Amino acid sequence: MKQPYFLKNLILVLTFFISTIYAFSQNQNTNVTWVDVDWDVCQYHPTSYSHKSYIQAPAQVFQKNAQGSSCGNFIVNYNGFTPDAEAAFQFAVDIWAASIVTTIPIRVSANFGPLGPGVLGGAGPGGFVTVPTSGFPANTVFPLALAEQLTNQEIMDGSLPSTDIIATFSSTANFYFGLDGNTPGGQVDFVSVVLHELGHGLGMLGFARVDDETTPTEGLLRNSGFVNVWDQFIENGTPADITSFTDPSAALLSEFTGNNLFCNGPIAMAQNGNVKPSTYAPFSFSTGSSYSHWDENTYPPGDLNSLMTPFISPGEAIHSPGLVTLGFMEDMGWSICGGTLKVNNFNVNSLKISPNPFTSSVSISLPEGMGENFQIEIIDMNGRTIKSVEKTTKNNSIELSNLDELDSAIYFMKIMDVDAGISVTKKLIKN
Ligand SMILES: [Zn+2]
Repeated sequence: MKQPYFLKNLILVLTFFISTIYAFSQNQNTNVTWVDVDWDVCQYHPTSYSHKSYIQAPAQVFQKNAQGSSCGNFIVNYNGFTPDAEAAFQFAVDIWAASIVTTIPIRVSANFGPLGPGVLGGAGPGGFVTVPTSGFPANTVFPLALAEQLTNQEIMDGSLPSTDIIATFSSTANFYFGLDGNTPGGQVDFVSVVLHELGHGLGMLGFARVDDETTPTEGLLRNSGFVNVWDQFIENGTPADITSFTDPSAALLSEFTGNNLFCNGPIAMAQNGNVKPSTYAPFSFSTGSSYSHWDENTYPPGDLNSLMTPFISPGEAIHSPGLVTLGFMEDMGWSICGGTLKVNNFNVNSLKISPNPFTSSVSISLPEGMGENFQIEIIDMNGRTIKSVEKTTKNNSIELSNLDELDSAIYFMKIMDVDAGISVTKKLIKN
């Protein structure tokens, strides 16, 4: 685990562990069964460095909010919030409500109060149930919020509608509560943190655990034989499904810590240039970070798909779920606002940069059907962003000039379709 030196006295990690235990007798619904599940709540880490960046909420969030026509209905029960914190939490809720479709309202218990030093807070599903009609293998469970959409019924917890997501955040952490994404470099953006944690509550998490957090020898995946729907889509580079390994086993631990896990959800892949999105599997298992996130290096700060990575930088604001995450949610059974996500043909082979090698200017030709607004970053071999410009397309093409100033070297050019939330990175050489 990276230990942030930033704000040492306030180690902004989530350190508490939620265990959800439900009795089978609580179930009043006929076609779902509650399952006892142990899972590790997200530990969302700030990086040791600040990174000022702002991924705006999709334009439809503002349109739908103005029209009162969101696709999703969330009922939030706020406890202990300040007005600023509640407004920021609600904004994150509104972003999700403009991103996913609900037929049954998602009930959220939102709590705000002093937590231990260094604890940001977190959120997760209020429980997991089987959905025999889902089409997934019978040993698959679903978070309540998703199970309600799949079965089109309010799932009851005893005689009451279930709390689908439980969220608790620190009132003493150094959060920025603005909605504008202009997060100071020394603060963590509350909207982004809530948006991230609600993503876990909606089902963006798997059941990977280890037998001993200090010196693990075996990895565990199942709970009483059950896996989350997330786990059904994880495979290694071979590819071999994560569910194909003996559980528990040392082999499973090797998979969790092999830096070689991917999501094979077809819609997630389609949003990722037909490349399997990489999930976070560092060589040392980090409880609450490993496995249940996208890979940090693949989707670094400022990336359009960086919301569900395990780290957030102070100063970083991510107000969009990103199309890779939404694609995976569609793979897991969610309906996405605006209809099925389009398969995009924006990938490393479909765009051309010429000349390459270049001297003072390059021309980027894009496939048909792309948006008009692009952000272009030139990144050196050390991962530093040397140049970042915003461009609009003309005839499916973007011209970049004044590149004489760059040293002769190998660079990466990251080409981001800002409207669609997708990017492609290509190598190029400066003569
Ligand atoms: Zn997380």
